[in-house]
Amino acid sequence: MTRTADAVVIGGGVTGASIAFHLAGLGMKHVLVLERKFLAAGGTGRSVGIIRQLYPTPETSAMVLRSLRVFQRFGEVVGGEAGYVGCGALIGVSAAMRPKLEATLAVQRALGIRAEILEPDDLARVEGRIDPAGLGAVLHEPESGYGDPTAVTLGYADAARQRGARIEQGVEVVAIHQAGGRVTGVTTATGERVDAPVVVNCAGLWSRMVGRLAGIDLPIVVGRHPVFIVERDAAFGPPHLVYLDLAGGSYVRPELGNLTLTGSLTDDEAEHPMDPELLGSEAGFDEASAVLERTGRAVPKLADARYRQGYAGAFDITPDWMPILDESPLAGFWIAAGMSGHGFKLAPAVGELLAALITGTAPPVNPASFAFGRFAGTDVAGTFVASYLR
Ligand SMILES: Cc1cc2nc3c(=O)[nH]c(=O)nc-3n(C[C@H](O)[C@H](O)[C@H](O)COP(=O)(O)OP(=O)(O)OC[C@H]3O[C@@H](n4cnc5c(N)ncnc54)[C@H](O)[C@@H]3O)c2cc1C
Repeated sequence: MTRTADAVVIGGGVTGASIAFHLAGLGMKHVLVLERKFLAAGGTGRSVGIIRQLYPTPETSAMVLRSLRVFQRFGEVVGGEAGYVGCGALIGVSAAMRPKLEATLAVQRALGIRAEILEPDDLARVEGRIDPAGLGAVLHEPESGYGDPTAVTLGYADAARQRGARIEQGVEVVAIHQAGGRVTGVTTATGERVDAPVVVNCAGLWSRMVGRLAGIDLPIVVGRHPVFIVERDAAFGPPHLVYLDLAGGSYVRPELGNLTLTGSLTDDEAEHPMDPELLGSEAGFDEASAVLERTGRAVPKLADARYRQGYAGAFDITPDWMPILDESPLAGFWIAAGMSGHGFKLAPAVGELLAALITGTAPPVNPASFAFGRFAGTDVAGTFVASYLR
């Protein structure tokens, strides 16, 4: 059996759902999202959901600010709940990183981002439970915080359906067809063919495999990023702010039920390739202890927190730790992948940008720095910190 669509979106994570919503919003009538498991089954459902605004380039800064404005009014702009908690975020840097932070912030402020640099001694004014020792400066982003990636995906998916998009779960794409240098459609695991002039690869951790179905090799490595969950004791007091300790190498973000999610900011995930099928598998306490030690140094009161659980997450990482948002060399086959560990907070703007590019509408942000061909032979370099400051 053969069906037709104006666009097939492969992958029902936060990226695919946002793109479907925006494509339908720009008047595309038959948008079909094919998700091999269920919505948010991939990296999205395992995400820590932090929304910080510190980014090293004007384009990524503009993207995160556009996205933040959506998270803040998600019910109105999209519908449903984003779980956005604007508790504020603090980003600690070493003395050596401070000049870069100051230069980056100057660019970001000109774009409308609200943030201020605190002297380590002034930190207690905002969050008294972080140890300022070893910090050269702390960036305070009062509007940042965290959100619920699964809820955001479901919100976009519902709103996309209301705009006429079709979302099918449990449907895996197993072949991508082309003729004369153009994509022509896909075949699913049940053997059904869908003809479409546009196919979008939003397969996240599986995007390299999906790219290969079209003969396109994506420079993306799937790198392991474990997350650990601890329970704060009652004496800790109210939830802490989101804290990203670039100097000490860990992060913490509060969760309901006195829980804190934490992970490393020093490991180079690209050096730890992971089979994406292991997503969500258990990470042991041994692995957690090095991270928890750093967390306990950064927020000494967390040193007494009870270890609850650890799981394996993973990032789809490009050589410059920034997404690929572009048409591939195969005409009509678009890529929205390689989110490199920050695809949740960028998802609203990613959907907006991709939908504009696909439909030939003016893009809201200059897409050049997300171009497919920008790497030309470079290997994965730097660590996640390269997505904050360069
Ligand atoms: C542990 C962890 C912590 C993170 N923390 C943050 C954070 O704090 N802040 C932030 O902004 N970002 C964070 N991220 C990153 C962010 O969550 C991801 O970049 C984002 O969710 C990726 O969404 P996606 O839709 O691109 O990919 P995914 O969510 O991986 O979705 C891809 C989908 O494609 C489907 N699929 C794959 N192959 C096929 C096929 N052949 N046919 C059909 N469907 C297919 C998969 O089942 C999957 O559902 C984190 C990620 C992880 C894992």
